[in-house]
Amino acid sequence: MANLYWNKKIETATRDELNKQQLKLLKQQVKYCYENSLFYRNKFKAARVIPDDINTLEDANKIPFTSKMDLRDNYPFGMVSVPLDEIVEIHASSGTTGNPVVGAYTTNDMNIWAELMARSLYATGVRKQDVMHNAYGYGLFTGGLGFHYGAQKIGTKIIPISGGMTQRQIKLMKDLGSTILCCTPSYALYLAEAMTKEGIKPSLDLKLKKGLFGAEPWSERIRERIQTELEIEAYDIYGLTELCGPGVSVECSEHNGLHIWEDHFLIETIDPKTGDVLPAGEEGELVFTTLTKTGLPILRFRTRDISVIATEKCECGRSHSRMMRIRGRSDDMMIIRGVNVFPSQIEYAIMGLPELAAQYQIILERPDVLDVFTIKAELTEKTQNSTPEELRALKLKIKQKVNNITGLSPIIELAKPGELPRSEGKAKRVIDMRSGKI
Ligand SMILES: [Zn+2]
Repeated sequence: MANLYWNKKIETATRDELNKQQLKLLKQQVKYCYENSLFYRNKFKAARVIPDDINTLEDANKIPFTSKMDLRDNYPFGMVSVPLDEIVEIHASSGTTGNPVVGAYTTNDMNIWAELMARSLYATGVRKQDVMHNAYGYGLFTGGLGFHYGAQKIGTKIIPISGGMTQRQIKLMKDLGSTILCCTPSYALYLAEAMTKEGIKPSLDLKLKKGLFGAEPWSERIRERIQTELEIEAYDIYGLTELCGPGVSVECSEHNGLHIWEDHFLIETIDPKTGDVLPAGEEGELVFTTLTKTGLPILRFRTRDISVIATEKCECGRSHSRMMRIRGRSDDMMIIRGVNVFPSQIEYAIMGLPELAAQYQIILERPDVLDVFTIKAELTEKTQNSTPEELRALKLKIKQKVNNITGLSPIIELAKPGELPRSEGKAKRVIDMRSGKI
């Protein structure tokens, strides 16, 4: 097929070619960090490692990990590895507590980021003729501008609408003929709900074909709902401020995992408890090393994201490994009555029920010694007038679904349509009141 790839040579390179390229870049990046960053030099010294110890890709496991805490402790520029004059753009993650995580880019870093975003958008079918409605937040957050730079490189028309003002978003989507929607999955569902309220039928009133959703973990059930409610094809895209922003990996038309651009990132999976590297195909925490970044290079970054890596070549022809959908963040994992539970598991149970809206909340309390686990699910316009018997049966159904997945029996509360808080950015699904956090 013609024009399937943005960069055919590298996207379809053989495993051997990719590995060779990665090893060359890894050695360069390690040497670069050792020579240009006091932070990394100290880390290497403490671990008694020198750049010459890195001779194979497996040797990466000798390099100490980098954590979010390292970036916070070295705020703002302690880990920048070039003279500050060479930094041309700075982004930051929304830190709710303490220092934010800063991303600092050189001109070369910016070019690579734009290139990787163009490659990612192109892999999902975005072309010059498209109109891209970019509802990711513009500003310090990497989402808005990351998509912007990639689309600009392809030559796609961008509507830089950013977040908020949902009614205006829908009006402009309609009037400007948007074909691609970019936003968080929770905002996509919110948009769908708002469209229903306004009597808009996406396939009749809009030109939307596809959407790229990321910046928060989402489940297959959410995909199904977005695809049904917005009548589009939904793609998953992944990135982190620490690595560059969006554009680290993306789904292709196969929708079977996200291709990690391995000519710029080395991926490992580790056991989150021991830090040991796991063989490909085993579920664990993803660890990324930037191979080409110079402004703020990151070696072995612990993402806390739990996933599985598939190394076999994909049907789309791309050889770059795929990360399967993120199951959750090890940070987000809840321990309820001693059981490990990810919010994504609860989401999976709830989203499969057509009687419920796409909103839910998990509330954890500990009035004395035992955890009280409550799920608030929201009824739809159709089911809000159900009889008390029907509602009782629905509660039982939700309880059983959650019980099948987690082994726990939550209290189920049903909210009226529109009662649960909506989010125009990342959704807050878990309210944990057990340790006085809120
Ligand atoms: Zn593929």
